[in-house]
Amino acid sequence: MTSARRTRYNFALQRAVELSLELEKPLVILEAVRVDYPHASDRLHTFLIEGMRDNERACASSAAAYYPYLERQPGEGRGLLARLSRHAAVVITDWFPEFFLPRMLAAATSQSAVRLEAVDSNGLIPVAEHGRAFPTARGYRALVQRTLRDHLAAFPLEEPLALLEAAGASVPDDVAKRWPRTALDRAVPEIVRSLPVDHSVPAVPTHGGSRPAGRVLRDFLANKLARYADQGNDPDMDCTSRLSPYLHFGHISAHEIFAAVMTHERWTFRKVGKVRAGSRDGWWNVSPGANQFLDQLTVWRELAFNGSTWTPDHHSYGALPAWARATLESHLDDPRTRLYSLAELDAAQTGDVVWNAAQNELRDTGWCHGYMRMVWGKKILEWCRDPADALDRMAALMNRYSLDGRDPVSYLNYAWVLGRYDRPWFERPIVGTVRYMTSESARRKLKMKTYLERFGRQ
Ligand SMILES: Cc1cc2nc3c(=O)[nH]c(=O)nc-3n(C[C@H](O)[C@H](O)[C@H](O)COP(=O)(O)OP(=O)(O)OC[C@H]3O[C@@H](n4cnc5c(N)ncnc54)[C@H](O)[C@@H]3O)c2cc1C
Repeated sequence: MTSARRTRYNFALQRAVELSLELEKPLVILEAVRVDYPHASDRLHTFLIEGMRDNERACASSAAAYYPYLERQPGEGRGLLARLSRHAAVVITDWFPEFFLPRMLAAATSQSAVRLEAVDSNGLIPVAEHGRAFPTARGYRALVQRTLRDHLAAFPLEEPLALLEAAGASVPDDVAKRWPRTALDRAVPEIVRSLPVDHSVPAVPTHGGSRPAGRVLRDFLANKLARYADQGNDPDMDCTSRLSPYLHFGHISAHEIFAAVMTHERWTFRKVGKVRAGSRDGWWNVSPGANQFLDQLTVWRELAFNGSTWTPDHHSYGALPAWARATLESHLDDPRTRLYSLAELDAAQTGDVVWNAAQNELRDTGWCHGYMRMVWGKKILEWCRDPADALDRMAALMNRYSLDGRDPVSYLNYAWVLGRYDRPWFERPIVGTVRYMTSESARRKLKMKTYLERFGRQ
């Protein structure tokens, strides 16, 4: 388990269960966490470990052996998978196109002594089937509208582990001896304190794991979805789902969220309307809140996986559309109002109280409101002499502090700030025709009084 870190609605786990039954072999579920991945901190490790505890609990009542392993020193886990694979008939793992995971998968593939399969359990439409990069959300939406029906017919099982019959799975002795399973029943802060991770980014009160993820989803459906279309942009109204950390760590599946929203909406495929291919409205025929939410979950989020997979060098400035690079470069010599250092940005020490509030929310809570992230990114662009630096700065800050950072969705949005997946707007200083957003207009348009009181310190 490397990215779909859950026991429910998980295609990779389901595949492993199928093979276990077919080959009549026991199933061992290894969930290992390195200690030296970029941005490893108390915050990220705590969230991961809380998720592992949920998985341990969920596996305890199944016939599978759950094997949690936390590295205590860099490189300590090296060789674990290779050795384990010598005892195995087959290895199944997750497929995820971002962060260090593609490199880790390549290494695992070359080290595994047996067949290794990587399964895409990220979204409703497997990324391999996209066939190409989609430069616009409209184009990707048209693909969803054309193909989703078939994919819904192949929904993952809610509880794949329930299919396993015989117990008796265990971690082979030689493996368990060299890489002892981590005892997760100690207090999480105690576990994390002993690890060489960045202790300056503290844990936050948002708890990781599939159980909290389920509670967050139920709260969203009961209390927020109906307001999502009208008030989703207002930080004070707090009515977005806050599911992004759970999606990022795979503690909840897009399928589960989709099924819950659609059950709530009493939707069946018969409701689908006839619209021009790629139109946002009139296709799902659900409530306005659900319509907007589904567009984020099934179009924008999955477009991000498309971009991370199908666009070569997608992190780079060079991957922006030609019009965006041309317009930004034609304004390289425009005077900037301010140029802040990364350290000043990190410490939320700018003269812009709205921006500082967004950065403080990130630092304090490990999450940031969606509309505030847009303003946050646009101001970083304005405060950089070179637009390519803006991409690096967004990644440095968001990936460090946000639980949901380091995700395909992160990189889609850093690039969106610089014009990717968008169209040219009106000519302005510094940003040219790239969409322009200001803290002043956000403050005028949105309800954010309480938000600024809480986070807007200078
Ligand atoms: C500069 C910038 C940086 C961002 N960095 C990240 C990041 O690191 N990680 C991250 O998950 N999101 C990021 N976003 C996208 C978005 O702001 C968050 O996904 C959203 O605010 C998460 O809150 P939520 O779960 O309540 O979202 P909801 O509004 O409830 O949306 C539900 C889900 O849809 C997806 N989604 C929502 N907005 C977008 C979007 N704009 N693009 C793609 N998918 C979307 C997410 O998976 C989200 O969890 C960023 C946006 C900007 C402008």
